[in-house]
Amino acid sequence: MVDLSAFFSDNPYFSAGFGLLGVGAGLAVLRQGARRGADLMRRQLLVSMEIPSHDKSYQWMLGWLSRRGAETIRAAGDGGSMTWTQRRIARAVQPRHMAVQTRYKQHDNGSVSTDFTLAPGQGKHVVFYGGAFIQVDRQRNTKMIDIQSAAPFETVTLTTLSRDRAVFPRILAEARAHALAQNEGRTVLYTSFGPEWRPFGLPRKRRALASVVLDRGVSEAVLADVADFVANAAWYDARGIPYRRGYLLHGPPGTGKTSFIRALAGHLGFNICILNLSERGLTDDRLSHLLAVAPERSLLLLEDVDAAFTPARQLPEHAALRPSAVTFSGLLNALDGVASSDERIIFMTTNHFDRLDPALIRPGRVDLKVFLGNASPYQIRTMFTRFYGPANQERAQEFANALAGHSVSTAQLQGHFVIHKKDPQCALDNVADLLGSATES
Ligand code: ADP
Repeated sequence: MVDLSAFFSDNPYFSAGFGLLGVGAGLAVLRQGARRGADLMRRQLLVSMEIPSHDKSYQWMLGWLSRRGAETIRAAGDGGSMTWTQRRIARAVQPRHMAVQTRYKQHDNGSVSTDFTLAPGQGKHVVFYGGAFIQVDRQRNTKMIDIQSAAPFETVTLTTLSRDRAVFPRILAEARAHALAQNEGRTVLYTSFGPEWRPFGLPRKRRALASVVLDRGVSEAVLADVADFVANAAWYDARGIPYRRGYLLHGPPGTGKTSFIRALAGHLGFNICILNLSERGLTDDRLSHLLAVAPERSLLLLEDVDAAFTPARQLPEHAALRPSAVTFSGLLNALDGVASSDERIIFMTTNHFDRLDPALIRPGRVDLKVFLGNASPYQIRTMFTRFYGPANQERAQEFANALAGHSVSTAQLQGHFVIHKKDPQCALDNVADLLGSATES
């Protein structure tokens, strides 16, 4: 009989194979151990923050990254505040794959220019901030698409050492502050886009409230009312009254209704959400939803409310005349909606007060009605001196006298002054031009 154990132990090939097997197994264990160890270290030593593209802070973060990425590249070149070692690392890891971001800048005179910034593109990058290296991983999920914006979902994940975790709140705060500073002194106009509000165009430069000349005391009264409302949230809360206020500005066209609301929003530091009730595709549900989710600190503006809801059009048999699917009762429900307990300020405008249904303008829906009429002598004089300077009081009075008894809108006055912008005497001499376009009252 063959002694098997002697055979195995004496056979050099076999024992070598066995030995190799042992080494292989040992290595596998080591490798697994190393991987586990690395995982453990990563978990213990690193912290991450993920920002998905549908979050508001995403755009702020891209802005921040583009500034930081550029800064890291610059610092890797000339050192800046970095130590020698940090500079070596920064050189090795500086962002190399960049994505172009075009920014529009609106100048004070209204003209627009563009400039380009480079944000770190898809993939992993490292930026240097506050003495810490931060890995930035920008990933695009091509399988998921944001239905509203039709853009693929993206995430940016920032990872750094746990000991540097305090940089995350600082980064977010800095990114936010920078983004808000860009809109400082400007009013953002939002329009509805599907079920959400989107900024429309670039933030507009604020218009000075005094540049909209209303009749004596009108502007001050509305401003005081809104300011009082904004300052009294606790009062409403304590009494369980819905914290909302409605305003209606009515009067002929070109009397400054829209301009005044914009200037008022700018003065109060509010943005404006413009809703067009005649918009195709607007339904009762969408309207309610939009009113409930309006961005914070914004005035909701419903322009020309009469156009969508003249009493005749509310009749079911005239449904075809209505451009949008919003019903009158849908509008009333949306205005009274309980969905939002937040502050809500609604401004409505109309050129035809008489066409409005009394239900729409009863207190609670419209708390303050303001008539903006054609230019009064006070407005004519004030606009004249605003255009040509306070030295022209006498001409302003003469100009107002010439227009006495005629209805001229403030928009017409503005047009006249723009034509004669350099010469107040010329504006006065040609006052008859205005009478041609004005209606006698
Ligand atoms: P409305 O909304 O009443 O039709 P707008 O606010 O659209 O009027 O005004 C149209 C134009 O006329 C704007 O360019 C605005 O600057 C000017 N305008 C109208 N009313 C005034 C006013 N009271 N003061 C200063 N500008 C005015």
